[in-house]
Amino acid sequence: MSKLTVGDFEISLIRDSVYWWDGGTFFGVVPKTLWAPKIPADEQNRIPCAFNCYLIETGEHTILVETGGGDKPDARARERMKLAPEAEPLSEVVARHGYDPDAIDIVVNSHLHWDHCGGNTILTNGSAVPAFPKARYVAVRGEWEHAHERLARDRVSYIDANYDPLVNSGQMMLVEGDYEVAPGLWMRRAPGHNRDMVVITAESCGRTFCFFSDLVPTRHHVRPTWIAAFDLYPLESIETKVGWLDAAAAGDWVCGFSHDSEVAFARITADAKTGFAAVPL
Ligand SMILES: [Zn+2]
Repeated sequence: MSKLTVGDFEISLIRDSVYWWDGGTFFGVVPKTLWAPKIPADEQNRIPCAFNCYLIETGEHTILVETGGGDKPDARARERMKLAPEAEPLSEVVARHGYDPDAIDIVVNSHLHWDHCGGNTILTNGSAVPAFPKARYVAVRGEWEHAHERLARDRVSYIDANYDPLVNSGQMMLVEGDYEVAPGLWMRRAPGHNRDMVVITAESCGRTFCFFSDLVPTRHHVRPTWIAAFDLYPLESIETKVGWLDAAAAGDWVCGFSHDSEVAFARITADAKTGFAAVPL
């Protein structure tokens, strides 16, 4: 299932593309003997991942959450990820999923790592132009400031062409902490993967869709201690994740993962042995 209804909202998975990435980085200190039976790795230890974006139609707004990998990685990087040589513009991906890209009036980035905001802009004659010219873009100010700190640990995750032209033109709004982007559509700080990443929820008629972003990148990461090696603050990731998963299980939320290449939506249940389980819908 790649589309469902949550209250008055329609939620659709827009899977930008599947890419292959080192399995060890996704599972951190979890031994490969535990994760490999769930996601078999190829001969270079890569596992299939996806750039998952979600389209939320509220009746009043059409909101795109995340914009995928985009067109900035070079040919070598694309080959390493087993991506097609040329990136398909996200507007075309959206159209291929049956939606009018011009209807998108809000674009939200959970954080500014290139694999979440790469399709914000398109390279045209060497300069990055908005991929969704009619949309207002929203991201977190602290994350944008952090991107410019260029720390050794995570500077490779940031490509300024994905957001700076939008910030400079005023098309991207930088917000502080918890923020209601549109009625029922919330960004809430969820530190762990990094300091300022947000989880995005769409709440309507007492029902909730939750996009965990990299707090729970795949359904296999619902186990509290299964934390990616990317995470800057792994202990905080565990604490934040357990809090969100508790709420998701208690509220019977519909949930989406940032990089799961198979599942579009899942419910979260408590599990006596592993803490939580993801039940695909
Ligand atoms: Zn990511």
